[in-house]
Amino acid sequence: MLSNLVAALPASPIIRVFNKAFEMRQAGADLIDFSVGEPDFDTPDHICEAGITAIRAGDTRYTPTDGNRAVKAAVIGKFHRDNGLDFTAPEVVVCSGAKPLLATAIQTVLNPGDEMILPVPLWASHLGMVQAVGGNPVLVNTADTSFKLTPDALEDAITQQTRLVMICSPSNPTGAVYSAAELEKLAEILRRYEQVNVISDDLYEHIIFDGAEFATLAAVAPDLRDRILTVNGVSKSYAMTGWRIGFAGGPEWWANGIRSLFSQANGGPCSISQAATVAALEGPQDFLKDWCAIYQRRRDIALAGIAEIDGLAAQTPGGAFYLMPDCGALLGRVTPDGIQLTSSTELAGYFLDRGVVVVPGPGFSCDPFFRMSIATSEDNIKTGLSRMKHAVEALT
Ligand code: PLP
Repeated sequence: MLSNLVAALPASPIIRVFNKAFEMRQAGADLIDFSVGEPDFDTPDHICEAGITAIRAGDTRYTPTDGNRAVKAAVIGKFHRDNGLDFTAPEVVVCSGAKPLLATAIQTVLNPGDEMILPVPLWASHLGMVQAVGGNPVLVNTADTSFKLTPDALEDAITQQTRLVMICSPSNPTGAVYSAAELEKLAEILRRYEQVNVISDDLYEHIIFDGAEFATLAAVAPDLRDRILTVNGVSKSYAMTGWRIGFAGGPEWWANGIRSLFSQANGGPCSISQAATVAALEGPQDFLKDWCAIYQRRRDIALAGIAEIDGLAAQTPGGAFYLMPDCGALLGRVTPDGIQLTSSTELAGYFLDRGVVVVPGPGFSCDPFFRMSIATSEDNIKTGLSRMKHAVEALT
């Protein structure tokens, strides 16, 4: 029998769309998939070679729970070079992916009933991680504020029970990017509430558009560093989703908590992937700009395509590889089969019948929106949007 906690976890509202897409694909359907959450690039050769070399050199044994010396040095070097953040080894943890690291970081701080502020639209796993430890998620809608938490909204959401705030920039699912000035304004509020800690989820750091500078809270507000965990990883930036390495820098008390939980429940990250991560973080970085330019071009193509669809409106993402179009104007319209669309989930189901997979808003605690990933070719983006345009034109 399931534990009370797990039994109470809500089922994913978007699972029906995914299951149907899976079945259609199995049956050989031609689908343009805008649901993927990972780069379509391959891991660069020099990173793969480092992994292969590690295997051949017998670097295949257990490592310290929070990563070996080499990978921790590479992470410390990365935080210094890219973010102007200086950490010591005990302030850094390297884990088997940012996802378990985030879940453990939340578990380390939240007691059952404690509140965590999550700006929505959110990445569903952030919410699930809070629910999984019996925490109380406090959702703050940012749809009318460029998908960003404002200082007023943050302050309104803080209570005596608030222990954590999530800042994800560039954001999955919206692509919104906080500037240093915007983070400083949030820091002004946080300074007044000493019981509130922050997780800065920076996974999409290197996918940032229009020449904007990436900013992270711990660098903007160094006086708050004892309360900020800066989480990053190689999955998205270096196209290494399958290698499973995430890392974080923060105060030693928080890193110790994570280490302690990881030592019991997970163990150290993969030794081979640690070697590959050293190559990623210490090797050439130029290709990141090239990939970023490719994503930006795709974003522009996607925005232009959406602008041609009457009834969809998208804000311009400043980074990551997602768009979050508003489909409110399409609700109430009727499909050729006579079904009246009442939610983004129904719209996603309708798009699926027309050969396009998108993820509907409930997956991000926000309706009437859906998420489109542009981690796919320009041709796919054009074809998918043209299918969506025809589908929308067929509505009455
Ligand atoms: N944080 C965000 C915002 C993400 O979108 C993801 C993956 O989708 C992760 C963290 C997890 O990354 P990893 O592959 O390192 O577990």
